Amino acid sequence: MNIAIIGAGLAGLHLASQLASAHTVTVFEKARGPGGRMSTRRAAPYAFDHGAQYFTAATQAFRDFLAPFLEDGTVAAWPDAIELSGGAVVSDKQKYAAAPGMNAICKTLAAGLDVRTGARIETLQRAPDGWHVQIASGETEGPFDWVISTAPAPQTAALLPDDFGPKERLAEVEMLGCFTLMLGFEAPPAITWSAQKIGNSPVGWMAMNSEKPGREGAASLVVQANNTWAEAHLEDDPAAVISTLLNAASEYADQDLSTAPHQVLHRWRYAATRTPAGEAFLKDDALQLAACGDWCLGSKVEAAFLSADALAKDLL
Ligand SMILES: Cc1cc2nc3c(=O)[nH]c(=O)nc-3n(C[C@H](O)[C@H](O)[C@H](O)COP(=O)(O)OP(=O)(O)OC[C@H]3O[C@@H](n4cnc5c(N)ncnc54)[C@H](O)[C@@H]3O)c2cc1C
Repeated sequence: MNIAIIGAGLAGLHLASQLASAHTVTVFEKARGPGGRMSTRRAAPYAFDHGAQYFTAATQAFRDFLAPFLEDGTVAAWPDAIELSGGAVVSDKQKYAAAPGMNAICKTLAAGLDVRTGARIETLQRAPDGWHVQIASGETEGPFDWVISTAPAPQTAALLPDDFGPKERLAEVEMLGCFTLMLGFEAPPAITWSAQKIGNSPVGWMAMNSEKPGREGAASLVVQANNTWAEAHLEDDPAAVISTLLNAASEYADQDLSTAPHQVLHRWRYAATRTPAGEAFLKDDALQLAACGDWCLGSKVEAAFLSADALAKDLL
């Protein structure tokens, strides 16, 4: 079968790598590279994991998937501990980060696949010979026997037709936005923690990105907004968002971070899931359309993997 997958995040790429053993698979990704919300932003001499910070592996299936990456150094343990804003330290579950950037797993998976980057799918067209996908550049590709969207739920809902069987379930999924403030320094700031989780503040998380495993380059700090605060301020003036996040982050870092020479804000329209679909994937066998991604099961990297893994097993 000829299969189109929309999205080259972990879900799309894991699905593609599983299906490629038996089918012809093309992955369409609107961004310039693979990774999705596990991306790494480079701005020499800095690099920032501006999406997912770390991930956990509660299931054997995800641990098995990670094993070869741990073996070759593409994944390493990080952080040892997370400081809470009140001063307590949590070091419960084993946590991991990809190296040298969070996009390393997706880059490795994409290397063996037909991934078209810079290809935003605008519409799906039904034809007697199958599905055709229209790319923003104007080209159309197809026919495909199946089209599978791994885009965040609201973007998937906009792409799939109204007669997609589980459309109501898809419409019930709620996602929240986020802001990531990327700060780069000439000299490392006097920060002793790897990462801080913060409560009751516009800032929800801070991490010394340049100290994650395998990183090179100048000192960099990632500041992420609390999702609820971000959702309420998504349309605010970016300068006002930067100012609020800088003030809060400076308080928790015990120093003035506003002097950082590199300050770039990224807005995530859909970052985390508030209400998941509650099913591992959504599929319409008659239309030969499906959807998967973290939002099916939760809000984390492992949920993205498990959703794609379940759909791959079903389709195979
Ligand atoms: C700020 C932030 C912090 C996070 N922190 C953590 C964390 O610490 N731990 C954790 O486990 N998880 C975290 N997450 C969540 C984690 O990143 C996601 O659960 C996971 O990466 C989702 O993978 P996915 O493949 O399901 O979706 P995505 O990675 O979103 O992949 C979907 C892809 O589809 C593409 N796409 C969308 N529409 C189209 C279109 N029309 N045409 C072509 N391509 C399209 C997108 O560009 C994207 O690449 C965080 C996320 C964010 C944003």
